[in-house]
Amino acid sequence: MQNILDAAIGFSLPHTLEGKTASYIPELSKVDARQLGVAVVDMDGKSWSSGDCHNVFTMQSISKVAALMLAIMDNGEQYVFSKVGMEPTGDPFNSIIKLETMKTAKPLNPMINAGAIAVDSLISGEGVEDKLNRLIGFVRKLCHNDKIWFNQDVYTSESTTGFRNRALANFMKDAGIIEGEVEAVLELYFKQCSIEVNALDIAMMGAVLAGDGKSPITGEVLIPKGIARLVKTFMVTCGMYDASGEFAVRVGLPSKSGVGGGIVAAVPGQMGIGVFGPALDSKGNSAGGIKILEYISKELDLSIF
Ligand code: GLN
Repeated sequence: MQNILDAAIGFSLPHTLEGKTASYIPELSKVDARQLGVAVVDMDGKSWSSGDCHNVFTMQSISKVAALMLAIMDNGEQYVFSKVGMEPTGDPFNSIIKLETMKTAKPLNPMINAGAIAVDSLISGEGVEDKLNRLIGFVRKLCHNDKIWFNQDVYTSESTTGFRNRALANFMKDAGIIEGEVEAVLELYFKQCSIEVNALDIAMMGAVLAGDGKSPITGEVLIPKGIARLVKTFMVTCGMYDASGEFAVRVGLPSKSGVGGGIVAAVPGQMGIGVFGPALDSKGNSAGGIKILEYISKELDLSIF
């Protein structure tokens, strides 16, 4: 495994030059674009890593996976999916177009920004602080890391420039999809996107999903099996946004990316993989990270298809 991870980094490093760090969140544009790291955690909790696996980055859209699971645990599947759909969009992650052109303003799925903001409005708690603490507590369990917190600078940077997300949220409030105060939902959304992790943390989260919700370290059931399976299905169909189809062909693993440069992948029954490379391709997915996953998937014959 170690040799494969080292070779995956060597193979993928040149591809970081094909991407650029996210610039629409000013704080993310300051990050060193050449970083590249990978980590694997198997079903016994054994881990391997290579490259910049200890460097931290913000979860961004990877947090949508955790928020969805928590919202379903809080409200049940039926209620959550009365507010958000189950279909891939083929549009960019922050697109607004389908909210108005579809019959209802219900966002198409929970992995795009509109869907994730709607999901956030369903998380239980007394105010933003309580909801965020619950969500971070859950992420800490999934990543088996009690130190996880959010990055204040990235949060402030996105909160002061997140006009598109504000538009999505306001539109959904008008249409009756979002319950509660728009600014409070957005504060929770921007803060959860700024949760800081490293490749090992998200590899652990991938391993929990790979084990249908069971921690590979403690054996504790962190997510009911049905919910773990449901989010893995969303990761296959929508996890890489409008690149999900090509990614399914080339890698074939339930995965979720974020514009911080991370991708979490779950190999059912076998392992979790976390990659980090902040240089993004035109769809907002880690350019080097996708290559790492392609390499490992081919080398170990991991595609689920
Ligand atoms: N915080 C980011 C946003 O809302 C998350 C998007 C992403 O990671 N694709 O734009």
